[in-house]
This record gives sequence, C-alpha cells and structure tokens, in this order.
Amino acid sequence: MSGAETINVLGLDPASLEALVAQWGGKPFRARQLSQWVHQRGVDRFQDMSDLAKDFRARLEAHCVVQAPPLNLEKRSADGTRKWLFDMGLGNAIETVFIPEDDRGTLCISSQAGCTVACPFCSTGYQGFSRNLSTAEIVGQLWYANRALREDPAAARLGAPPEESHRAVSNVVMMGMGEPLLNYDQVLGALRLMLDDHAYGLSRRRVTVSTSGVVPMIDRLARDCPVALAVSLHAPNDELRDRLVPLNRKHPLDELLDACNRYLEHAPRDFITFEYIMLDGVNDADEHARQLIEVARRVRCKFNLIPFNPFPQSGLRRSPAARIRLFSQRLVDAGLVVTVRKTRGDDIDAACGQLAGEVRDRTRITERLPDRAKIVIRKKEHG
Ligand code: SAH
Ligand code: SF4
Repeated sequence: MSGAETINVLGLDPASLEALVAQWGGKPFRARQLSQWVHQRGVDRFQDMSDLAKDFRARLEAHCVVQAPPLNLEKRSADGTRKWLFDMGLGNAIETVFIPEDDRGTLCISSQAGCTVACPFCSTGYQGFSRNLSTAEIVGQLWYANRALREDPAAARLGAPPEESHRAVSNVVMMGMGEPLLNYDQVLGALRLMLDDHAYGLSRRRVTVSTSGVVPMIDRLARDCPVALAVSLHAPNDELRDRLVPLNRKHPLDELLDACNRYLEHAPRDFITFEYIMLDGVNDADEHARQLIEVARRVRCKFNLIPFNPFPQSGLRRSPAARIRLFSQRLVDAGLVVTVRKTRGDDIDAACGQLAGEVRDRTRITERLPDRAKIVIRKKEHG
C-alpha cells in the first residue's frame, strides 16, 4: 500500500483500511470515521469530511480516491425497478438492479464481466468472459445505488423498511452478472464491507450469495463469511444438470448437496435457497418434480422457482403459468416451502438472466462452446 499508486477507498475491506491508516500513524477510530463518511454518507471528496484531522485529509487527498465505476446508462421501470449500466473499460459493461418492495429494497449486484460457467439459459453466459471485478467495483455498485436512491426520496422510501428509512438498500443479492464464487477474494472483501457496522452494516441474513455450485468455495465462504446462500440447482439429476449448469460436470449433485449441508452448520439461516428456472419441456415435468422432492429430502431448503426470462439467442421458452403452478403444487404437497419469483423490471431488460451488459470475450470461451441452443432436447407442449 505504498508507492505512487492511487488507492480507491471503496476497495479496502475494514482490515485493509485500518492497516492503511495505521501505516500513517492513525488510530483505528480514524479508519472507522473515514469509513462512515464514505460508505454511510456517500461522500467522495475528502475535503468535505469535516471532522477528519487536517493532516489526515491531506494524506488522503494525496494518495486516495473514492471512485465508483463510471455510469453508462440508467433506466427506470414502470414498477419502480431501476437499472444502472456501468462501464468497465475495454468495451465491457456490467449491470446493477434495484428492486423496491413494500418492506425492503434489494440491490442485485454483479461480480464479473461475463461468466465462464456458460449456462445455456443465461444471457451473461452467452457473452463469454472478460474479467473479474475488483472489490472496489463490486462495492462501488452498492455505494452508487445508495447515493442515487438517497437523492430520490420517493425511491428510497419505497424500498426501505420504516426502521431503516435512512437506508435505501436493505438487502443485497449477488445475482447479477458473473459467478461470485469464481471471483472469491474480491467478493469476500466486498461482503466484509457490506456487513461491517462502520460501512453498510447489513446483517448476514440480508446479504445473499447465489452460486451455480462452486463446491470448494462454498466451504471457504462458510469459514470466512457465512452469509445467506442461494444455489442455482435448475435440474434434479446429474444428466440434465450437466447440460443446464455445465459446472455440474466438475462438481456433481452429490458433492453439491454435501457442501450445502456443511454450509448449513455456519449459515445465518437454517435453510439453503434452491433456485430452479422453469424451462418449457426441459426441466418442468412431473417426473422432475418427483426427483426434486428426493433431492430436497437431503438438505434443509426452500425453493425459488424462476420463470425463465427469454432472450433472442437462447432457443428456450418459459414454462406456461399453469405448468409452473402445478410444478409448484407438487413440491408444496410434499411439504416443501416454495415461492415463485415475480418478474420485475422486464420492460427495461432488468429481469434475471437478461442482464446483458456488454462483454469483450477475452477468453474466447464462446467460440469453444458447442451450439448451446441445442439444449432444448424435448420440445414438449404443455396444455
Ligand atoms: N452465477 C450465479 C449468480 C448470477 S445468476 C448463479 O448462477 O447462481 C442469478 C440467478 O439468475 C441464477 O439462479 C440464474 O440461474 C438465474 N438466471 C439466469 N438466467 C436466467 C434467465 N434467462 N431467466 C431467469 N433466471 C435466470
Ligand atoms: Fe454464470 Fe450464473 Fe449465468 Fe450460469 S446463470 S452463466 S453461473 S451468471
């Protein structure tokens, strides 16, 4: 942390910020004061941080910045959902989505420009992979959203529970672009800031990491920073999951379910959320529901059924509403807790899996993939 390099304060987790301040001879409370100015009040100019000592401010001005990624575009949906497109340089862009509800305001954050997992139902997966985001770029999305929402009192009130009316974003889900557990270290730094009382102060239950099933990193997260965990299951057997979530070939279902059980020993909630995308004629038959019930017996879990959000190249279709209802009912009849995700913000392409952003596929991963539209194995019509 020395030398001429400019440090972005948004990228320093609580321990690193304290270390930087200590290196300048400052006490830990200085770091906490700075953290509050930056993360809680959203101030980015050190000269405005009036209760910081003059010499401390001078050092900060000489060596540091507070810088969120540059904004490319902002969109607002008729239902109050907001989407920000951030420029990640070299032709890459990522997206962040705010979803206001009566009792909470949820921010959906991206962790990578692109994704290497390449699920055939996900538009991020179609774009290949460019790079991991830094802690500053991940936290920058939250910092920016909080600031933008504070400037828009109507939106802030919409999203915040009464006891937290000062805080527009009450929940964070790592469900934007990218696989958070394949960018572990940078995501961990960001999570620590989200939880830190002197930064965003969110409880572990209000921060959710969603993963396609990176088993070794699920174990590390359990040790390092156990927040709420959502697992993108999408298929009840290995044969189908190998195709829908290609990472399953490396970490098959048995291994994944064992990891979920180990995680539960540390988790802030006593269940894992299993996400299950509803794809017409692919994974939505009664037989899949039956197999899913067997899977669910092995892990304490809740199901979140996600109606597929179509995008042009996928060649896939959303299960009809009646099929989703019946599928859900099968699970409920077996005693499982099931919610069906409401589609929000689809008029601004902000719904799950539509987060296109723009990615320079530096790894050329898309060229190496087989024609993923062929995933539609049986085109079965449901009545
Ligand atoms: N990579 C992580 C987190 C980002 S994706 C993961 O896969 O879990 C967040 C959620 O959106 C996942 O459950 C994913 O399966 C779902 N999703 C992706 N594409 C979608 C689409 N087209 N329609 C609906 N949900 C989608
Ligand atoms: Fe990556 Fe998640 Fe999309 Fe799969 S669903 S390609 S893991 S972002």
